[in-house]
Amino acid sequence: MAINNGEEQQNQLIGDADLAHKTLLQSDALYQYILDTSVFPREHPCLKELREMTEKHPRNHMAIPGDEGQLISMLVKLINAKNTLEIGVYTGYSLLSTALALPSDGKVLALDKSREYYELGLPMIEKAGVAHKIDFRQGLALPLLDELLQDENNKGTFDFVFVDADKNNYLNYHVRMIDLVKVGGLIGYDNTLWSGSVAAPPDAPMMDFIRNLRGYVIEFNKHLAQDSRIEICQLSIADGITLCRRIK
Ligand code: SAM
Ligand code: CA
Repeated sequence: MAINNGEEQQNQLIGDADLAHKTLLQSDALYQYILDTSVFPREHPCLKELREMTEKHPRNHMAIPGDEGQLISMLVKLINAKNTLEIGVYTGYSLLSTALALPSDGKVLALDKSREYYELGLPMIEKAGVAHKIDFRQGLALPLLDELLQDENNKGTFDFVFVDADKNNYLNYHVRMIDLVKVGGLIGYDNTLWSGSVAAPPDAPMMDFIRNLRGYVIEFNKHLAQDSRIEICQLSIADGITLCRRIK
């Protein structure tokens, strides 16, 4: 099952014409194998319903793929996260993956400028019985984060953060995340390989939205690489996720 989206078209423009999925893997068959053997058979029925609903939405390219949802779930459980934050919810695949992985008294503060997208997935979140873990706030993320930071009690309190919103603001988010996440906590930044364009020659053919934001992603990656307050790990799953563990 190939998922048709803008990122897929971008892959075709900048590199391997056979790439037709939400991954940087160089083989459709291998990606399908991962989905069929490891992801779909274990996917929570409400996540499946949310994914299938989202696939029919015109902006479906924005959702994280199932294998990335599985990774988020594993990370949340491995670090015993209880207090988490997400920036960029869309219909909620990453949000529901997080909420399902949290303990019953766990919390996820979810920020998105669109309530409309969130409400598309809300019935499945409610059906999964995890809506009580979610505090959704509508608005632009930067002012919402600044509001949080005005209260000293919020500093150093988040165990896990997932950032998947406007790439031109990732550096601005990072400045704030470092204060919000606890020492030893984890931040995941999504799309840090930006359809592979970060390593493509500047004159390579690429879609406009990829070209327009590519410089921001490259600068962001450079910044993380030299930030001594974090340990980093760049994963090439999905469109690239950079995991940052706050160490000071
Ligand atoms: N993580 C989501 C998932 O698993 O489906 C996908 C998130 S989608 C790539 C990006 C989301 O960020 C959109 O829902 C958009 O409304 C939101 N967004 C973009 N810029 C934003 C901003 N400045 N503040 C808050 N939300 C923003
Ligand atoms: Ca993403």
